[in-house]
Order: sequence, then structure tokens, then C-alpha cells
Amino acid sequence: MSKLPLPPGSTIGILGGGQLGRMLALAAGRLGFDVAILEPEPGAPATRVAAHTVVGAYDDPQALEALSKLASVVTFEFENVPASSVEHLTALGVAVAPGARALAIAQDRVAEKTFLNEAGVATVAFAAADTAQAAQDAMASLGAPVLMKTRREGYDGKGQRWVEHAADAPAAFKAVGAKPVILEAPANFVRELSVIAARGRGGEIAVYPLAENHHEKGVLRRTYAPAKVTGETADQAERIAAKVLSGLDYVGVIGIELFELADGRLLVNEIAPRVHNTGHWTMDGCEVDQFEQHIRAVAGWPLGPTHAHSQVEMLNLLGEEADAWAKLAGEPETRVHLYGKRDAKPGRKMGHVNRLRPL
Ligand code: AMP
Repeated sequence: MSKLPLPPGSTIGILGGGQLGRMLALAAGRLGFDVAILEPEPGAPATRVAAHTVVGAYDDPQALEALSKLASVVTFEFENVPASSVEHLTALGVAVAPGARALAIAQDRVAEKTFLNEAGVATVAFAAADTAQAAQDAMASLGAPVLMKTRREGYDGKGQRWVEHAADAPAAFKAVGAKPVILEAPANFVRELSVIAARGRGGEIAVYPLAENHHEKGVLRRTYAPAKVTGETADQAERIAAKVLSGLDYVGVIGIELFELADGRLLVNEIAPRVHNTGHWTMDGCEVDQFEQHIRAVAGWPLGPTHAHSQVEMLNLLGEEADAWAKLAGEPETRVHLYGKRDAKPGRKMGHVNRLRPL
């Protein structure tokens, strides 16, 4: 493993070449690093701002070896990187941050909620089921309705459905793909919040102010941050972030999605072991944004301040909405971030804007 802190001029490897990889690469560049992207799709957003690209599957041994020769440390921009790839890189002598454990836990909704509860962090009540019959049986103890989600590889509300009666569980099981599922009790939340936090190589923790998130059709639409919350809610979020980060012996930035209940309690919905869409507001609202913070953490640099200096409304630009770039760029309060994607398919995240107001 390379000596830390990693000096400027070193190369940081990133698994994944989407917009998160691109914004990580841009932040790394500001600190004097080069990046090497491993990504199956030539020309993906991050590859066009990177010094090096290895085109290959995430589990291709040759591609991983090529990356290991270029990079002093490796990180990832999405949580569905195969755990075996992280093990392979580690065996080749390259440190991967966050580590294999955080990845494995975040890839499985049952492992995730089990870890959270063991770490003293509250979630909705849940049960695991591997068969249609087990799903129906589990509803006898959990009650109805439940939200059925595939244990793995669900995102943006995909692979999920509400089940109103136990008798409907087998059909729902089939509809989500007849794969192992988690059944979740409903969270009767008043708001969806998230907290972005970071942990450094020495175990130090930095937490951003809470963000309030609004989704449409399962996709994040808007974030308002810093969210208007009580001091007690902010303290609760900080305690949750500290328990999660320390419990995972984590290095890097994490996104923690929260449900705020009417009585003020926060439940964790899920954790994303990476920079997060609900943290994009930090690019223009905070002294050091989530992307630079992640690079600092994995490179063993001191973490930066997370204090907000502006009130931000972050709006995702989906599909053709990004075509309005000229108008948006003409709004003095608006900062435009475009991901360089060539194909504006409906609903695809093409960019985002941060609209600023004084705090
Ligand atoms: P997820 O894929 O787990 O992030 O869930 C996507 C969205 O579904 C969340 O942002 C919530 O709006 C909603 N949701 C997820 N889990 C629950 C739950 N247990 N109760 C109520 N709503 C939920």
C-alpha cells in the first residue's frame, strides 16, 4: 500500500465512469491528483476528464491489474461493484476505500438493516424472505401493508412494490423477479432527509448539515439544504452518522437516507457507500464539497470544513431539461453542472443546478 497522505501528482483509481466519477475526478484534479477510471463503456462521463481510462468490466482481472498499476489507491462511484473486484485489487496490493465490508453491507438490504440495528441505529421493522411462501408467512408477524424490495440491486424505487394483504405476497414476489426480498413495515414519515458525512484515515468524522429531499417517480428531483431542522434532529443525525461510519471502519464519504417521523425520530432507510446525489448541493453551498471531501479522505488528507455558507435548492436536470443550459446559465443565482452525457434519454440524469440564497 502507498504511503499516506498521498502526495499531489499521485493517481487515484475510480471504479465507475458516470457523473459521480466525473465530479470526483474534477475534485481530485483541483488537489493536484490524476485519476484513472475503470469503466466498461468507452467515452463515459468521467473518462473525458480523466488522465487514464481502462475500458473493461469491473470484474475483468486484466482490467483490474491495469488499474492497479496506474493507481496508488482505488475508490468507487457506485455500490454494485462486485466485492470480488475489491478483493482482487487488495490482493494486488492496492488499498480500496471505502472497504469491502461497507460495500457488501450496502449491497444487501437485509445485511444493511441488520448492521444498522446492531450498531444501535433505528430502521423500520423488517423480515427477509427467499420464497413466495416465506414472504406470505412473514406478513403474519410484520402485519400489512409491507413494502417488498429485492434484497440486491434495487435503486431509485426499482424492484419494489407495496403488498396490502398477505395473500398477495406470492404474486408480488413473482413481480419483483422471484429473488430474495426484504419486507419492510411502512415508515410513516413526514419528510425524507439525508445526511452526508465523511470519515478520514485516522477515524476523524465530518458531517454536513441535513438535506431535505423530494422524489418524483422514485427519482430524486430536488434537495433543499441546509434543511430546516431542530438542534435535536441535527444532533440525532450526527450520532447516526458517527455510529454508521465507526461501525463500518469507514474511509470516505457516505450518504445516509433518513425518514423523519412526526415525533422527531429519525429512521435510516438506506446507506450509500459513496458520494450521493443528495450531497450535490455541497458543491456550491459548503466550504469543501462532498467530492473533494471524499478524495481527501481516501488520500489520507485532513478532512475539510463542512459548514454551509449558502442556502441551496438543488434540482436534477432530467432528459431534455438540460437543453435549457443557456437560460439556466443566465440566472445569476444558479450554478450549472452538466455531466457531458451525449444521449438525453427521458428521465436520465444529465446534470443538476444549484440555486443559491444567502443563509
Ligand atoms: P429505496 O429504494 O429504499 O431508497 O426506496 C425508495 C423510496 O421509497 C424512498 O425514498 C421512500 O420514498 C420510499 N420508501 C422506501 N422504504 C419505505 C418504507 N419502509 N416505508 C415507506 N416508504 C418507503
